Amino acid sequence: NTFAEIDLGEALNQNIRRCKYVKPTPVQRHGIPISLGGRDLMACAQTGSGKTAAFCFPIISGIMRSQGQPLQRPPRGVRTVYPLALVLSPTRELSVQIHEEARKFSYQTGVRVVVAYGGAPINQQLRELERGVDILVATPGRLVDLLERARVSLQMIKYLALDEADRMLDMGFEPQIRKIVEQMDMPPPGARQTMLFSATFPKEIQSLASDFLSNYVFLAV
Ligand code: AMP
Repeated sequence: NTFAEIDLGEALNQNIRRCKYVKPTPVQRHGIPISLGGRDLMACAQTGSGKTAAFCFPIISGIMRSQGQPLQRPPRGVRTVYPLALVLSPTRELSVQIHEEARKFSYQTGVRVVVAYGGAPINQQLRELERGVDILVATPGRLVDLLERARVSLQMIKYLALDEADRMLDMGFEPQIRKIVEQMDMPPPGARQTMLFSATFPKEIQSLASDFLSNYVFLAV
């Protein structure tokens, strides 16, 4: 089993080779084909399982497939940006880590990744957003702030990944997450593809899954 056997596109495959990934981990081997096939996914995945690549690869590949020129650069004077993909993560540290990996995976693809997290000045993050964003990696609180300032719109979101969903709920982010997802229901209904990753599956996570995912595949590796 190799990444070359998964139809991710040549640019992404080259980046995977640059990262020295040879063999997909179980969550990648089973999860990526499900996501590439367009199905929603709820995956049981621990830290270190390779889950970052499991949600990044289908997002990058999907964005590259859907348009020749992915970067959504706002016209001059317009300050609202429209990312195509959103990755929600519980902490600043995890967001930074996901951003770094996603940038390596999207090298020379034209897909632009921006990160926004709380507990840091917002201005630098706003400047990065103004340069355009395809994939936004964010913590829930800071994203709500950006939505309230109308600096980010979620109307174009085609891919949503919730990373460490159990930890986000433990940290009390459920109201923010619900508020965020509510803004995402662009027409036609069901156009959004969602991936939910969690180490544990208490009933709170199951109810999040039944509210946010449609006709999803459950993957436990
Ligand atoms: P994650 O679970 O996404 O935080 O990944 C854990 C670590 O494993 C990270 O340092 C990744 O860069 C690395 N990694 C993920 N997938 C692979 C793979 N298929 N081959 C080698 N290393 C990997």
